[in-house]
Amino acid sequence: MFKKVLIANRGEIALRIICACKELDIPTVAVYSEADRHSLHTRFADEAVCIGPARSRESYLNIPAIISAAEITNVDAIHPGYGYLAENADFAEVCETCGLQFIGPSSKVIDLMGDKARAREAMKEAGLPLVPGSGMIATDADPKEVAARAEEVGYPLIVKAVAGGGGRGMRIVKTPDKLGGAVETARSEAENAFGNGELYLERYLIDPRHIEFQVLADTHGNTLHLGERECSIQRRHQKLLEESPSPGVSAEVRDQLGRRVASAVAEIGYTNAGTVEFLFDQQGNYYFIEMNTRIQVEHPVTEMVTGIDIIKEQIRVAAGQPLRFSQDDVVISGHAIECRINAECPVSFTPSPGDITAYHAPGGPGIRVDSMAYTGNVVSPHYDSMVAKLVAHGGDRHEAISRIRRALDMFVIEGIKTTIPLHRKIVSHPDFVEGRLSTSFLEQIAIEKKG
Ligand code: ADP
Repeated sequence: MFKKVLIANRGEIALRIICACKELDIPTVAVYSEADRHSLHTRFADEAVCIGPARSRESYLNIPAIISAAEITNVDAIHPGYGYLAENADFAEVCETCGLQFIGPSSKVIDLMGDKARAREAMKEAGLPLVPGSGMIATDADPKEVAARAEEVGYPLIVKAVAGGGGRGMRIVKTPDKLGGAVETARSEAENAFGNGELYLERYLIDPRHIEFQVLADTHGNTLHLGERECSIQRRHQKLLEESPSPGVSAEVRDQLGRRVASAVAEIGYTNAGTVEFLFDQQGNYYFIEMNTRIQVEHPVTEMVTGIDIIKEQIRVAAGQPLRFSQDDVVISGHAIECRINAECPVSFTPSPGDITAYHAPGGPGIRVDSMAYTGNVVSPHYDSMVAKLVAHGGDRHEAISRIRRALDMFVIEGIKTTIPLHRKIVSHPDFVEGRLSTSFLEQIAIEKKG
């Protein structure tokens, strides 16, 4: 097992990784920016190293500073969390070259899945169905050729960035006359956000569900899935509320698709934890959209229903240990729902940074809160707006819903605006209660309100 692990992240995920390391008796090193001197991850790690000013580019994305911190503190492994450098193949490669174990898949697989057009090809070859779409469209592609490829894909379509993530660099195109403009804006957004203006096209599915499979693979050839998560409740193509299992997936589909996913992932030589994302159309047909090669924000719902600590498994697998259970040992028990509590206006979603003047997290049966917040803590405008993840686990979906409702009522966060009022509305809505979900759920409830 590792002698010491450095956590190249901040916020609740850094704390979550510290929890896993403590349970495995592995000392930890936190890295922090000047703005995070008083953060809980800085306080609870065994050692902490300041790596730069508040701006992420100069701290949490600063590879030389992080590698230096790892060398000074003599760690043998780095956990990247999610976001920041978690899906940066160069960072994984630098770790590999410096003899530091990157707690995640190999840089080669990160690189392959990080290019969404190549990832589509690889997963198609590995046997997964794709949303109809094009291959990569180069930055200098002739507009006539783009138009021809769009005709082949069919309208409506969605223009996406090959390096995309976080819902950025995407444009929906309903008719051919809007294609040129959409390609241009998607390209410049992708160039700004990811430094790569390459695009691809996909048929735009109407009111699909976003359903993803959690996978775990060791370095001894064992690959399995931990069931699915329903992530259809989104704002601006970003997830807001997730649950496991999905109310729209039968036991047969879970078993069949889950096994297909595990074998596809084995085919591409994947190791560690990862997520394979699908869109399900209203008829129940499913299509691969992308793979995330890291731990995800919504992993706790899977942990609650499987009883498996995914972060501990990531660490064990990265240390070369074989998985200690097989597919048949994975049992889905009850139901779990997660609400992302963001420091945002619940109507416009504009960020609401500031001082948390009062904070009390709910408890009681079946409730888990992953958070870095406390009374007196400052939500910095420099970072992601997520303040807490509120997770409820119940014997069935009905109990999970009652638990998350009462926990939302008992969550005290003062001084900043949060998405709690919106979550209250979502979990009381009859469509949510009955499991009638799609990625347009939030837009539809906004229209109902106006109407
Ligand atoms: P990102 O990596 O930026 O999160 P994804 O490819 O995972 O991008 O898509 C994010 C969300 O965008 C999906 O959950 C879905 O709501 C929407 N979306 C993506 N592709 C399609 C599509 N082909 N048809 C309809 N909606 C889509």
